[in-house]
Amino acid sequence: MKVTILGSGDAFGSGGRFNTCLHVEAGGEQMLLDCGGSSLVALNKTGIERNRLSTLLFTHFHGDHFGGLPAFLLEAQFVSRRTQPLTIAGPRGVEQRALQAIENDFPGASGNAWRFPITYVEVTPETPATLAGVAVEAFPMEHDQRAGPCQGYRLQHGGKVFAFSGDSAWTDALIPLSAGADVLLIECYTWDQVLANHLDYGTLREHRADLGTKRIVLTHMGPLMLAHQEELPEARAHDGMVLSL
Ligand SMILES: [Zn+2]
Ligand SMILES: [Zn+2]
Repeated sequence: MKVTILGSGDAFGSGGRFNTCLHVEAGGEQMLLDCGGSSLVALNKTGIERNRLSTLLFTHFHGDHFGGLPAFLLEAQFVSRRTQPLTIAGPRGVEQRALQAIENDFPGASGNAWRFPITYVEVTPETPATLAGVAVEAFPMEHDQRAGPCQGYRLQHGGKVFAFSGDSAWTDALIPLSAGADVLLIECYTWDQVLANHLDYGTLREHRADLGTKRIVLTHMGPLMLAHQEELPEARAHDGMVLSL
């Protein structure tokens, strides 16, 4: 499994980083895990052939993770002229959220006759799925239920495990999410300010021993985290970082 971090930024593009978007390749199949508002720009900076992406999987419905979907679909329709089927997967309600987002961004477009078949798949903690050849398990995260259910995912392929928190404050669900994972990519938005909906570095350090992962990589860093990151023992994500599992 190869994970390329196309966007490692927070909601506001702090540090000039793109919104969250991960490109996941496994066994010849490809998907995006989250596709935030700036992700079309991030994709266009790479050589990724987007018609080969079979699946978009979302952690939750905030714009910095989900906001790139409408433009992705319209680009597929009118520019890339996609004919390959596309799976749009995410938490409960993903189809309705997608149609709302398309209609908000491009009024009238939610009724488009798409050139490619779209299948919506709900992935929940009770309902794992196989997406783009990868086994996907969802874990409930502690973030903002207005934009959710908010989920972290555990991706398994070829005996390797990649875990991603999406956005979350500390929750004990991060423990099974990351248990035995080859890599845990975890949000760490703030430095020492404890928030109800995001993780801060102090809390992460307190719980570091609970996270049974071989390698931890911090992402979604806000301005204060970015200012302190050179001091940290943990790896930090950056746009273009490749995680090979
Ligand atoms: Zn976010
Ligand atoms: Zn969020």
